[in-house]
Amino acid sequence: MATGAHSTRDIPELETEDEIAVLETLPVVDRCTFFKASNAMTPKSEAITGPVLTSATSVSDLFDCPVCTNSLCPPIYQCPNGHVLCSSCKVRVEDQCPTCRRELGSIRCLALEKVAEFLELPCRYQSEGCTMVLPYYQKIKHEKTCELRPYYCPYAGSECPTMGDIPMLVAHLRSDHKVDMHDGCSFNHRYVKSNPHEVENATWMLTVFNCFEKHFCLHFEAFVLGKEPVYMAFLRFMGEESEANNFRYTLEVGGNNRKMVWQGIPRSIRDNHRKIRDSYDGLVIYRNVALSFSGSTSKELKLRITGRIWKEE
Ligand SMILES: [Zn+2]
Ligand SMILES: [Zn+2]
Ligand SMILES: [Zn+2]
Ligand SMILES: [Zn+2]
Repeated sequence: MATGAHSTRDIPELETEDEIAVLETLPVVDRCTFFKASNAMTPKSEAITGPVLTSATSVSDLFDCPVCTNSLCPPIYQCPNGHVLCSSCKVRVEDQCPTCRRELGSIRCLALEKVAEFLELPCRYQSEGCTMVLPYYQKIKHEKTCELRPYYCPYAGSECPTMGDIPMLVAHLRSDHKVDMHDGCSFNHRYVKSNPHEVENATWMLTVFNCFEKHFCLHFEAFVLGKEPVYMAFLRFMGEESEANNFRYTLEVGGNNRKMVWQGIPRSIRDNHRKIRDSYDGLVIYRNVALSFSGSTSKELKLRITGRIWKEE
């Protein structure tokens, strides 16, 4: 039976010789077929009567904007020569078709918009392991929250465009950002800053911890809160929020017979770094307090941060 490695559940296997022959000519990764919703649940023994679109890749490619590669959503536009593009690209290209350079106008591609309503397509993260096959517009919605969509690089302070799965991002942090990697669930770090009176935005550090066979990012940074310079340390989990909620962590900072303790839940790296910072979901140390940890005579800021990560049973 001609089912490829990437066939999705609920798709009936094909019965007739002809249809199998068509599928056999496609590369293995393309061997998923698309059916109208009514056909998607057809039992194995019944013949398929609905439209069978034989090349998955070319059909889903039809619904990718050729300019930005995002999925096309109504309104879908086309130039007088029939080249399609999405509504956000239409705004950007200033009335000139990016493919043939003709004046664009405002011609909708109603046929494609209508066809989309009848399509069932696999999630675009199928090759990452997602098995969802959904009507086109639901598929676009699902992809925004699909758990198998790639993560953004958690390295903050730069506009790093790298995306990928966790193992790929861990390797990327190590080799491209030269991030410190530590094994184990407890840590003891010293941060020394020679001129604590200059607290420019986005002065920060990142350390990655590998424990419970998961990866956690410890962020430490200085920024100005109102008019007050502050230091903040917080932990992020390299994975989904649902899994992050199984973990807890503490951070303790002190010196000079003073001490502050924070206990929290690591935040998923799905949450924007800035969003976490702006919600103060971490250990926030005002500079004057930080200086008192360093000792009153100290010209340097010296902070010792200890911490521990554990799993909540
Ligand atoms: Zn576009
Ligand atoms: Zn054109
Ligand atoms: Zn998905
Ligand atoms: Zn990066």
